[in-house]
This record gives sequence, C-alpha cells and structure tokens, in this order.
Amino acid sequence: VRPSTTLSMSSSPPSSSSPPYDLLVIGGGSGGIATARRAAQYGAKVAVVERGRMGGTCVNVGCVPKKVMWNAAACMEVLHDMKNFGFKGGAEFDWGFLKGRRDAYVKRLNGIYDTNLKNSAVVKIEGLARLREGGVTVATSTGEVEIDAKNVLLAVGGYPIFPPGDGISENAISSDGFFDLPDLPKKAVVVGAGYIAVELAGVLNTLGSDVTLVLRKDKALREFDDLIRDTLDSEMLRQGISILRNTGGVKSIAETAGSKTVTCADGSVVEGVDCVLMATGRAPLTEPLGLEEAGVSQGPRGHVIVDEYSETTKKGVYALGDVCGNVELTPMAIAAGRRLADRLFGNVKDAKVSYDLVPTVVFSHPPIGTIGLSEEQAKAKYGEDNVKVYRSKFANLWYGVFDIPFDEKPPTAMKMVTVGDNEQVVGLHVIGTAADEMMQGFGVAMKMGATKADFDSSVAIHPTASEEFVTLA
Ligand code: NDP
Repeated sequence: VRPSTTLSMSSSPPSSSSPPYDLLVIGGGSGGIATARRAAQYGAKVAVVERGRMGGTCVNVGCVPKKVMWNAAACMEVLHDMKNFGFKGGAEFDWGFLKGRRDAYVKRLNGIYDTNLKNSAVVKIEGLARLREGGVTVATSTGEVEIDAKNVLLAVGGYPIFPPGDGISENAISSDGFFDLPDLPKKAVVVGAGYIAVELAGVLNTLGSDVTLVLRKDKALREFDDLIRDTLDSEMLRQGISILRNTGGVKSIAETAGSKTVTCADGSVVEGVDCVLMATGRAPLTEPLGLEEAGVSQGPRGHVIVDEYSETTKKGVYALGDVCGNVELTPMAIAAGRRLADRLFGNVKDAKVSYDLVPTVVFSHPPIGTIGLSEEQAKAKYGEDNVKVYRSKFANLWYGVFDIPFDEKPPTAMKMVTVGDNEQVVGLHVIGTAADEMMQGFGVAMKMGATKADFDSSVAIHPTASEEFVTLA
C-alpha cells in the first residue's frame, strides 16, 4: 500500500545555484499548498516539491471523491423515498458514468491547484525530497538537485495501512483502491471502525452492495459520543449492513477464481466476497524524508513531533497535517499552515492554530456532526457532578408523510454536553438527516464560549432539524 516512489517530470526544473527559498514545502496537499500560497502573498520566495498529483489525499483519494460518492448515495436514498411524495418510477444507477465524471472533476481540481500555485508565484518542483542541512535534495526525473531553503515545511500527509495477516495485502484494497473500482461490488467486506470504514460501508450499501462491516471491537467510532455510536450502529443494521463484532480483526483473506473468503481472528468467516476494503487506519508518510539524520523527532507511530507553532525538533523545519497525526482533517492542516505563514512571513507574532473545538462531519448514512467533548470525555475531564447533558431524539419531518410506524422512521439524535454552573457548551453531537450542514455555525458559537442560555436565547429556524439545538430542555 505504501505509495510508489516513481518520479514524474519536473514542471519547473530547479537549479542548485539559485538563492535560497524562504520556504520550501514538501507535499502539495491541502496543508502544503495553503501554507505556500499564504507565504507567497507576504512576498516570500516559495517552492512546493510534489511527486504526484497536486491536492494530496483530500482532492485525489479522500474528501472530494468521497463526497461525490456520498452525494450519489444521497440520490439513491431520495429515489427510495420519493414514492412517499407522490413520485412514480425509478432510475438506473451507472457506476462507470459516475466514476468518469468524478475522475474528470478531480483532474480539473488538480489543474486548478497548479494554476493557483502559478498565480501565487510559487514554484512547483516535481520529485521526491529528502532533508539535508540548509535545505533539501530532490530526486527529479532528470537527476538529483540540491535546493537551499531557509525554512522547510513537511506536509507530506499519510497513507493507508494494512494489518498483518495471510493474503490481506494481496487480496484487499484500501480507500485509495476504492476510487479505482470499475464497478459496484456485489458483495463487499469493509474492515475497520473509523471514519473511512463507516463512510465507505455506507456508500457501498446505499448504492446496492451487500456489505459486511468487520469490527475488531463492539462498535464503530470509538472516540465518539455513545449516543452517536449507538444510533449509527442501529441505523447501519436497519439499512441492511451486516456487522461482525468483537472479531479481533481479520486473520486472513483467501481468493479462488475472484471469490474471496475473509476469516477473522474469532473464527467468523465471510465467503463469496468480491471486494475487501481495509479501513484500519493510516500512517504518516515520512519516508524517504531522512528525518532521523536531520534531527527531526518522531512519535511512537512515526508522526512528526511539533510544538504549538508547528516547529519540529529541528530549528527551521516545520510540519503540519496528517504527518503530525494531530486532528487529521484537511481544514486543520490549512488552518495550521496559514497561521505558520502569518507568523514566519506576515509578522503576526503569536500566530498559531488551536486544536480545540474543531467541528467535524462523518459522511456516514445518516451523517454525523460533532464538536468538542463526548459526555464521557467531559465527565472524565471536569468531574461527573459538573457535567449536565441535554438530549433529543426525533424523526425528521422528511419522514412525516411516510406510511410507516414511528419507530421505523430513521431517527435524528442530538446531545449537548455542558459544564459548570453557567452551562458552557463543551460538546455538541448530532446524527441524522442534514447533520452534515448543521455544525459550522454552532462551531463559531462554541469557539466564542456559548452557554446553554445563549443557545436558548437564539430563535429557532422552523421547520428544520437543527432548531432542536436551541430548544433542548
Ligand atoms: P482511524 O484511525 O480513524 O480508524 C481506524 C479504526 O479501525 C481504528 O480506530 C480501529 O478501531 C480499527 N482498526 C484498526 N486496526 C484494525 C484491524 N486490524 N482490524 C479491524 N479494525 C481495526 O482511521 P481512518 O483510516 O478511518 O481515518 C483516518 C483519519 O482520516 C480519521 O481519523 C479522520 O481524522 C480522517 N478522515 C476524515 C474524514 C472526514 O472528515 N469526514 C473522512 C475520512 C477520514 P478500534 O480500535 O475500535 O477497533
């Protein structure tokens, strides 16, 4: 699964005789590009070294193509529901058509990123960079070039990892491979319990695959609030996803004539599978940066250690995004990069990013929006007596005209976690229709220290699902 080290042509052949760059960014993903462009806006001389397509994980094999697939699944859900609104008939789904459109869109974005760099006067160097004193050595298609830089930023991201086991790496794909699938698999096994596992299991199931989710433990999304985990779990079951729990993980995958057999550590077996997708975590892509020789320290799982200003243990070498493993989200890397550029080149003395109260969405079915602490985390941090929790569970008005019993209607579940006498909101969680578009504004409020009383003093927008957050009792 480790990405290949093949080099591509250099679009702008670097020269070792040039004066040093003010900033040399290794990695043309969201974080690297944001930092480079912000630094260049301040007049810094900046280059980005990238060996592949611009845009990194998010654009090429992450957020963007995933959201396209999630949108397709959302269309499928509407198609299922539309008879309840008086529509007749149906529609056929063409995976190949969607893949073509999706890949073309991603390619367009690659080009836009290239253009944006050019417009910002950032030099792009195609190749593979390795740290050295005073800069980097880049292996380009035409040979090695030494490039001097006053500051170097490591923004190289991560890659999907497979657990050990017989036939696993040979017979399974990762989330990267998901985006290469030429057809919708008939029967799929998704292994893992994080964002990627529940998102891709949901997409495949909604689009028509027979999906089994293999969990090492009892439920997915271990760090999330229990209300979210429990609701997602029962929704996945209601939607027809089979869940194998407490399996201890996958032991082996065997293949005969295209049909795969997945055997778990607890002895459970799934047969006749045409796609096994491992979503068991990601690792920082630190090779071949030469971190150890350069004096850049790494944590136990290989992540680059940085201080609150994104500086590594080597002066003048910075790192951000997935390679650091601290809140692995695109907007986090972008925010960290812009603050870094503000501080290094924009004279904003104490600019640094905050990793607190970061809103995030899991594009599961239904989607999840969450900010801050779960109930359990809040009680552990502030003491049980200091935490007060508000909950709501209801059926979205979307399902009002459905001719099914109330308890068969997909629920929306919400929780607000407050702390102290003034009931400051330290956690906000929702799963249900439109949860993905609910949390951004509440995130602003929570950053400003909103209390339950502040939420109560906001007038509801009716009829919406998010209004429940300002009417919790
Ligand atoms: P995660 O590390 O979040 O989840 C992987 C999970 O899989 C582990 O937590 C573990 O859960 C389980 N697991 C680990 N090893 C095994 C094994 N051998 N067998 C079975 N299960 C195993 O990784 P992801 O790859 O899902 O996502 C990486 C990060 O990318 C996320 O944390 C998120 O920050 C980001 N992301 C964000 C998205 C978004 O914003 N919507 C979408 C996708 C990714 P357990 O210990 O409970 O078994």
